[in-house]
Amino acid sequence: MRKSFRGSLRGKLLTMTVLPMLALACLILIGSIVLINHSLRLREQKELEKNARLVAEKLDELFPGDYRLVGTEALYVYKGEHILSDDRELLDSLKLFEDFELTFFYQDTRILTTLCDEAGERFIGTGASLLVQRDVLETGEAKCYSKVDVNGERYQVYYLPLLQKDGSVVGMIGAACPVESGFISIAGYIFPLSVLCIAAILFAAWISVGYTQKLVGQIGQLKSFMNSVAKGNLSVDLGEKILKQQDEIGELGRIGLEMKSSLRRMVELDELTQINNRRYGQKRVELVRQRVVETGVNCCVAIADIDFFKRVNDTYGHEAGDAVLRAVAATIKEGMRGNGFVARWGGEEFLLVFEHHELAQAVAELEKLRLAVEVMQTEFEKVVIPVTMSIGVAVLSEQEHIDESIKRADECLYRAKEGGRNQVVDESHSVRKRERGQDAKDGV
Ligand code: GH3
Ligand code: MG
Ligand code: MG
Repeated sequence: MRKSFRGSLRGKLLTMTVLPMLALACLILIGSIVLINHSLRLREQKELEKNARLVAEKLDELFPGDYRLVGTEALYVYKGEHILSDDRELLDSLKLFEDFELTFFYQDTRILTTLCDEAGERFIGTGASLLVQRDVLETGEAKCYSKVDVNGERYQVYYLPLLQKDGSVVGMIGAACPVESGFISIAGYIFPLSVLCIAAILFAAWISVGYTQKLVGQIGQLKSFMNSVAKGNLSVDLGEKILKQQDEIGELGRIGLEMKSSLRRMVELDELTQINNRRYGQKRVELVRQRVVETGVNCCVAIADIDFFKRVNDTYGHEAGDAVLRAVAATIKEGMRGNGFVARWGGEEFLLVFEHHELAQAVAELEKLRLAVEVMQTEFEKVVIPVTMSIGVAVLSEQEHIDESIKRADECLYRAKEGGRNQVVDESHSVRKRERGQDAKDGV
């Protein structure tokens, strides 16, 4: 079943890593903009304050004395002996930089300003807002406003109260700069900051995607390994690279491999003797038969059966019988090395498959095996238990079902038992008795 991107591990891992990174980057960006904006405003405010004070000091220095309103019809504002209200050149000379605007208020009325409308007319005669009157004129304290609307434009304005010698408030100096100019300077910070943030996100995302791909790839390998094991393929293997890893994935791989080995042992081996069990023996002999069909190689099957085994159990006990079974199985297994394989076929019966032997060769090998079992010293609780086995062997024929070949071997085994046990009988009916020429041990 195909999973959606969000449902897949890749989707989850990427969502888990990239999304928080994006959120963090956005937070950092917004936080930085707010901080930069705030510090720029503060810097501008300090600049405005400094300039407003400079202007007030300059006026005191140039024209010592108090501010006065003189006249009956036409009113003039004097500073000392100088008519201030007419002196636009003076105010223009005090405008220290391009975006800096100056306004001189007598009480709440603009009597001099560098602020002009579209037609170039100065805003003279207009009044300060009630808020400014209350905050600055009434209290005599300086104050800065970050958004003051003057003729549709927004300004940051610092209002500095002008004091007479007796300390009374006579007016204000408003030092202003357009808010947009601040924004332009913020934009100057935002752009490189955004580029930096995006670059950092892209770099982190690249690393994250790389790691995710690697991790998902390894988990994919584990998944297909488990899938094969689940479907019964117990010869599947895992890549060396994963198995050597020291992390959880490597651990999982090693556990998986162990699980496969345990399963294999359970499914393929006989618990008592630890040789192939009947089911696996059957499977393997089928494969051998297929090879015979494909390549025409000579193969033989044999059935070996322990002689008078019931008596072993009866005389020495079931556990002793088990010990004999284990010992015989081990001897046969050892003897079959390089020849083929052995499987426990029944209680005390074994199936032996010779994978590249003519009948005579197989018989020769079986003779060796028979002898090896005969001379075997199986000790149980300090008693040596004598044991022999009879064997029937037949050619594995490609023209018949494998069961037929085994049946012919079984018939030979029957004849071996009939013929006195402890002997190998092949299809040619020639009975090969043990070299001593004696009858098989008649029991124990
Ligand atoms: P023969 O020479 O004709 O083969 O005689 P036998 O006694 O070996 O044959 P029989 O079929 O009469 O007895 C086989 C015995 O093997 C009977 C059963 O109790 C014993 N046996 C089968 N499986 C096991 C096992 O796993 N452990 C033990 N201890 N005994 C087993
Ligand atoms: Mg038997
Ligand atoms: Mg037997």
